[in-house]
Amino acid sequence: MTNGVTRLAPSPTGSLHLGNVRTFLINWALARQRGWRILVRIEDLDAPRVRSGAASQLLAMLSWLGIDHDDHPVCQSSDLEPYRRAMLTLAGRGLAYHCALTRSEIQQAASAPHQGQQELRFPPNLRPAASTQPLEFARHDVNYRFVVPDESIRIEDQVAGLRSFSPFDEVGDFVVWTKLGVPSYQLAVVVDDARQGVTDVVRGDDLLPSAARRTLLYRALNLPAPRWWHVPLVLGSDGRRLAKRQADTRVEIYRRAGVPPQRIIGLLAFWCGAAKKRCEMSADEFRERFQLDTLSRSPVTFTQDDHAWLVQLK
Ligand code: GLU
Repeated sequence: MTNGVTRLAPSPTGSLHLGNVRTFLINWALARQRGWRILVRIEDLDAPRVRSGAASQLLAMLSWLGIDHDDHPVCQSSDLEPYRRAMLTLAGRGLAYHCALTRSEIQQAASAPHQGQQELRFPPNLRPAASTQPLEFARHDVNYRFVVPDESIRIEDQVAGLRSFSPFDEVGDFVVWTKLGVPSYQLAVVVDDARQGVTDVVRGDDLLPSAARRTLLYRALNLPAPRWWHVPLVLGSDGRRLAKRQADTRVEIYRRAGVPPQRIIGLLAFWCGAAKKRCEMSADEFRERFQLDTLSRSPVTFTQDDHAWLVQLK
């Protein structure tokens, strides 16, 4: 397969953990096996969470691991104009409106979240009546929400299979532009993937519901949607997904402790079904051995044995 384009899209909010790196490695191997071009996009629009120095640290980490890319990395914050244009299109089509409600006002109007549901759903009755609310994108310092239709969205995922979501029930009218003067994550990635010609998006399956939200935005903006490859996450022994705040799963900690990149890749290969047991291997060997068919469709758990093997404890 040729002419494919994918991207590694890290957020510079902390240092990479084993789960992040596993997703990047799978993304990279799929791309190199299929001849896709690999772009790097630093997703730095969430300014309060961005950590200075994190972007260069994570680029250095990828190259230490042997995960290369094509073209120069780009930062989302370097040019906001394409996102503003997308907002003008949405507003012009009557699909985005300005919303000054606070989180607690929305919370009061919303019903209690379902069990396990962390997101706050924006209740449909808070959407302004079209006649009283001029739909324009004139102010950049307020939140704008996207008009989410009440319908079910099917995602045909190359890894997770056919899945259905209802953004209307899950999240309601979500924010596409924030009062900090920047697009929300959902809008930014849609605009970027389209303008960078991304054909294949590979990422953790915690983002599967967001693929449905993005599908609505692609439709509203008349842009082609990419193919999706959502891979299962890596969980800690507590059953929760690894997080950048958990120091002991950061690859940087292992690197500083003298663990070679081949041992990290070898553990990831074991987790991905590309090795029968933990062993050392280079990224290039991983690329040769990795097959989507042998990738487990359920989450992987990072165990004490994995840690002990990485640091070679007896
Ligand atoms: N920047 C996002 C993250 O680090 C990834 C977004 C995406 O791959 O679409 O979670």
